[in-house]
Amino acid sequence: MSATAFTRRADAALADPILKIAVERTAGNAVAKRAIAVENFAHFEDARTRAAAIKDHVVEHLGFYLEQFEAAATAAGTQVHWARTADEACKIVIQICKDAGAKTVARSKSMMGEEIGLPHALAEAGIGRIETDLAEHIIQLAGERPSHIVWPAMHKTSEQVSALFKQHHLEPHAEETIPAMAESARRHLRDGMLAADVGISGANFLVADTGAVCTVTNEGNAELSLVPPRIHIVTAGIEKLVPSMGHAVQLLRLLARSATGATLTQYTTFYTGPKRAADADGPDVMHIVLIDNGRSAMREDGLAEMLRCIRCGACMNHCVVFRQIGGHAYGGTYPGPMGAVLTPALDGLAKNRDLPNACTLNGKCQEVCPVKIPLPTLLRGWRERSWREGLEPVSVRQGITAWAWVAQRPRLYRAAVRAAIFGMRRFGRGWISALPMASGWTAHRDLPAPAAESFMARYAKGER
Ligand code: SF4
Repeated sequence: MSATAFTRRADAALADPILKIAVERTAGNAVAKRAIAVENFAHFEDARTRAAAIKDHVVEHLGFYLEQFEAAATAAGTQVHWARTADEACKIVIQICKDAGAKTVARSKSMMGEEIGLPHALAEAGIGRIETDLAEHIIQLAGERPSHIVWPAMHKTSEQVSALFKQHHLEPHAEETIPAMAESARRHLRDGMLAADVGISGANFLVADTGAVCTVTNEGNAELSLVPPRIHIVTAGIEKLVPSMGHAVQLLRLLARSATGATLTQYTTFYTGPKRAADADGPDVMHIVLIDNGRSAMREDGLAEMLRCIRCGACMNHCVVFRQIGGHAYGGTYPGPMGAVLTPALDGLAKNRDLPNACTLNGKCQEVCPVKIPLPTLLRGWRERSWREGLEPVSVRQGITAWAWVAQRPRLYRAAVRAAIFGMRRFGRGWISALPMASGWTAHRDLPAPAAESFMARYAKGER
């Protein structure tokens, strides 16, 4: 079987020792901090159950909450736009920027912006872009894509970041410390941020009864890039709705703990409309682009539970596959277990058939997900669909069909196992590094020679 694009990317990632160090540093830290935060949060399980129920309720009554949000946001002075696709969303944003004569936009980190390809659309329209989140700034300088939804530059070591800043910043840091590097980025970014014509953000939550948009950051860059410009544009998925501020707060408590282990994110801001007469500052105009981009289809297509996702990143931090290959190997906007479910929905199963298979189904992602998304079940669903639609390679289909035929005939199955064990003992000589027609497996793994006696034989003898 020839290597697919995914396996080629995964092979390259596995051969990169620096990547492994970078991913382990951040993910390991996040896992440890989350564990402490969860231990200190009384009734964490109850909070997860409530959070899942809030999201399910909204997804079930999406039409009602979207209309309520639109009415409340409009009453607060916000202009609400609707986009069915990524392309439509980009066109709306670019048109707003052009109408305003914008030369530069300041962008606060948004996975929705990445999902719809906004950085590319802005570049094509000749509009300058300043990424104000520190990690997004790093990957903008490196000309790369985010590799994690919370830490977009997780794949970079501090040594690599230091070299990038020295190459691109006019007044780079002299000391090799994280605060000195952060100061270098601040010097580089601040004037541009304050001078931008438009601020663009995503939304962590949209509050239906007030029309508010909630963003969370740990750097305060959202506030600094959204309040000074004349125009604030929000791009948000329609599943970001919550009924009220109280519901948003319940989810915020889980989001911060699951993402970084913090009790609350450093900066949590609710934006309700543009600047009012009595306000000291704020944008003159505020736009919200509500984006479907496949979400309605997911709701109808057995993937409604995935719309609970609050983008905390815990599933990827705990994923044994993600921690080996990092985020870029997944190929889409969203990596890790949630990406392996989302990418086939957003970008087609045929192109992304490998992703649901790149999973051990150990269940850890579901165990840590703050909104209890049954990720392994959804991944199995994609595998079944891939089989039904005939997307598996012929060799896999034939192999599984033959195995299923034998497995349904116990006597034949036992005879086949005995023959395989005999052959493996005779030809294996310890470790088996090459099997006919199984090079895809043995290229990366050895099979140990079978034990002297099989489990079934020992079980039959009464060993327990
Ligand atoms: S699937 Fe769950 S754990 Fe993963 S990012 Fe979404 S909310 Fe977080």
